[in-house]
Amino acid sequence: MPVVVQKYGGSSVGTVDKLKAVAAKVAARRRAGDAVCVVVSAMGDATDDLLALAKQVSPDPPRRELDMLLTAGERVSMALLSMALHEQGVEAISFTGSQAGILTSEAHATARILEVRPTRVREELAGGKVVIVAGFQGVSPRKEITTLGRGGSDTTAVALAAALGAACEIYSDVAGVFTADPRVVPAARRQAELCYEEMQALARAGAKVLNAQAVEFARATGIAIHARSSFGGPEETVVRAGSGAARIAGVAVEKALALVSVAPADGPRARQLLAAAHAPCAEVEGAAGRLTLAVPLENVHGLGPLAEALRALPGAALDAEGIGAVTVVGTGVSATPRVRQELAAALAALGGRPLAFEAGPLEVTVYAESGLLPALAREIHRRLLEAPAQEG
Ligand code: ADP
Ligand code: ASP
Ligand code: MG
Repeated sequence: MPVVVQKYGGSSVGTVDKLKAVAAKVAARRRAGDAVCVVVSAMGDATDDLLALAKQVSPDPPRRELDMLLTAGERVSMALLSMALHEQGVEAISFTGSQAGILTSEAHATARILEVRPTRVREELAGGKVVIVAGFQGVSPRKEITTLGRGGSDTTAVALAAALGAACEIYSDVAGVFTADPRVVPAARRQAELCYEEMQALARAGAKVLNAQAVEFARATGIAIHARSSFGGPEETVVRAGSGAARIAGVAVEKALALVSVAPADGPRARQLLAAAHAPCAEVEGAAGRLTLAVPLENVHGLGPLAEALRALPGAALDAEGIGAVTVVGTGVSATPRVRQELAAALAALGGRPLAFEAGPLEVTVYAESGLLPALAREIHRRLLEAPAQEG
């Protein structure tokens, strides 16, 4: 029997009616003869709501307790979806990440999947049941409950698909991966196909439609990801191994970043302090004579102790309010000066100035004031992905 792993994100199960509609879709697939394993996210904004609740109790909550709290969101949606399937006459059973055999590292809030042992999932699928797994969570070797970082249900889905030898379909509120967030850039077009490297770079740069760790897992295991709309038509983006041909794949916006600037000699100490605050960082090109580190804030739950510790470094600056970045992703984009020049010109045309730049193998990033980012994304998309020059 062919096995499929389908993942439905928060917006797809945001209300009871939507949850019932997802159940109907899953039931139809099961009745068509496929073995179906469903990965669900928490309903709507449930994860944000739980985080806000934690912040009311503690500005810098223990990460272990935060994981205990946040994993409850997916537990609610998995149980409700299972009940909805029973209502529709389809046998189903829900499992937490731990019950489904999602084994992770110990790193609370940013755990990595080390191994998947889906014994119970396999048994129940073989018995004909739809198996529903709570996304975004696992269990560490010390039997601690962990979470995989925001957007981590995608990773649960890919890891389960790899372990089950299944197809992997990721459903959200958009019909695939576009050349930019279609909510920000109305002229964005759906990409029919992206290679793993392009998608990973887009996801790392803030294109939330697929999670970066999920794509990395897919690349390592050779799984193709089909990204579709939950309630739309058959349009999709397939993420798989590609030809590596030079092209611009898209533009991504990261809304919440911090920039840390220190004297170069204080670099190692600043990195230690960031690591102690569970904050990942990357060196970027900031002001001359300074060491500038960019810190994505999505999985950093409290910067108070970091700000305090940085005060001990003379001249250190932490800018954590109102900073973001726009990244142009594509094979070959950092090899020519044009993309960087266009980013600088587009920002200048909006009256802004670059706070820093960064170039990687498949990306060029400009850091800027976050209020300018939507307009900057539209302007750079117009220059690089709508202008006739991109055909040449
Ligand atoms: P889910 O809750 O299903 O996991 P997400 O909110 O994580 O869904 O991701 C879907 C959202 O990603 C879309 O609503 C869209 O606004 C945003 N997005 C950002 N960049 C892109 C892009 N390049 N293509 C499509 N959607 C994008
Ligand atoms: N519910 C989690 C989040 O909001 C995981 C996910 O949606 O993938 O980040
Ligand atoms: Mg998501």
